[in-house]
Amino acid sequence: MNIDWQAEAEAKTQELIEKTTHLIAIPSVYREAPGENAPFGNEIKDALEQVLTWGEERGFTVRNVDGYAGHLELEGISSDCVGILCHLDVVPAGTGWTYSPFGKSAEDGKIYGRGALDDKGPAIASFLALSIIKELKLPLKRSIRLILGTDEERNWGCMAHYFANEREPLAAFTPDANFPLITSEKGIIDGFISFSPLPPVPTAELTLHHIQSGEALNMVAAEAKAACTFSSKKTKEKALLLFEQRFAQEKGHIDMNGEVVTFHVEGVSAHGSIPSKGKNAAVLLCSFLRELPLSLAEQRFCETVEEGFGPGDGSGLGLQLTDEFSGGLTVNLGRISYSEAEGGDIGINIRYPVSFSKQEIMRQLLKAVADFNGTWKEYDHLAPHYVKAETKWVQTLSEVYERQTGEKGEALSTGGGTYARALEKGVAFGPLLPGRESRAHQSDEYMEIADLVKCTAIYAEAIYRLAVQQTLE
Ligand SMILES: [Zn+2]
Repeated sequence: MNIDWQAEAEAKTQELIEKTTHLIAIPSVYREAPGENAPFGNEIKDALEQVLTWGEERGFTVRNVDGYAGHLELEGISSDCVGILCHLDVVPAGTGWTYSPFGKSAEDGKIYGRGALDDKGPAIASFLALSIIKELKLPLKRSIRLILGTDEERNWGCMAHYFANEREPLAAFTPDANFPLITSEKGIIDGFISFSPLPPVPTAELTLHHIQSGEALNMVAAEAKAACTFSSKKTKEKALLLFEQRFAQEKGHIDMNGEVVTFHVEGVSAHGSIPSKGKNAAVLLCSFLRELPLSLAEQRFCETVEEGFGPGDGSGLGLQLTDEFSGGLTVNLGRISYSEAEGGDIGINIRYPVSFSKQEIMRQLLKAVADFNGTWKEYDHLAPHYVKAETKWVQTLSEVYERQTGEKGEALSTGGGTYARALEKGVAFGPLLPGRESRAHQSDEYMEIADLVKCTAIYAEAIYRLAVQQTLE
């Protein structure tokens, strides 16, 4: 059967715009106060119920799993299913918007608003993809499910609950990252290296009160500061001069408050999965502090920060590992603090290649931490996610993408964590085409309408082919 998927998708453009903007206008940000069947707040409940209602109106079988997640199903001969996984929750609006984040703004060929790209636009594209298959009355070997999660932006509690109640699709994709497709995602370890407080040993020349830098473990620390009191005038003058020389290029400034001198350094923020894209303010500051006559413990702390975590590639920890599927291990220094009373803390985010085990990484990390005289506390771990790019169903996604866009459909790897990790056999597949700007989680988030139409066409053909092809292996 020859189906013009692009024409089918184009015929649904008006509905695509209406439903996406309608959904954006429901501010489905996580709220603390859970209600009846609203574990993540009433707005998220409303968003989920809205899409399920549209599903019912269109004649899909729908299920709401206790307000955590839900699905629309198009039944096949077999009850085995293939799936698309989207999420209906969004991050808060934040500031700096030209358009209304929860308005109904569609102009210049774009839909603006929180969730336009991440992930409400793609959820509606997927909904319409299923609608096209239904309206064409195409016979299906397997059932097709559009699974709707509602806690992606926090900790995926939606998926844990959903899959405790519903079976896993045999194969699935999530439109929550980039095209062509992402089959390999690095393992992620978050944690802190702590140094116990030592009795203050002010050197004859200065007292270091505290060092502080960074906010989140998965962001390159963009700002850092250290407060000192100098007992030697000469040392103070030398320090001020050195700071000015060092930070003539970089951004830095000094605050004087009575006897206390605070050094401020500004770096460049970047996502923790690509530390080499940023400039770590904590590392810049500690590198400067090492030039001052600090106590031994303070020296050691600054040395550990600079030499252990300055290089973002793990070499400072003996962890310079790489593999062909996912590239090199990265280490991001996200947060540090140091004070006489509390001791020191270094918060890091490690992303390791898929062919290494957590045990292998931890063995070497703990050795390095012991060498630094610190102790390790794990905060979070996400196992690597990997689906073989040669598998039949993954090949099908590549082929569909290539035919519909004329671009190469090569599988990609990421250090990020996509929603595909919620699935055993899942990959991320779109919605962002190569070269497009992503304003996800930022002001004036948008999605090009033509791209959403293209997504509808790609998702319709892709999920249809997964539902009918002989084997998925
Ligand atoms: Zn998302």
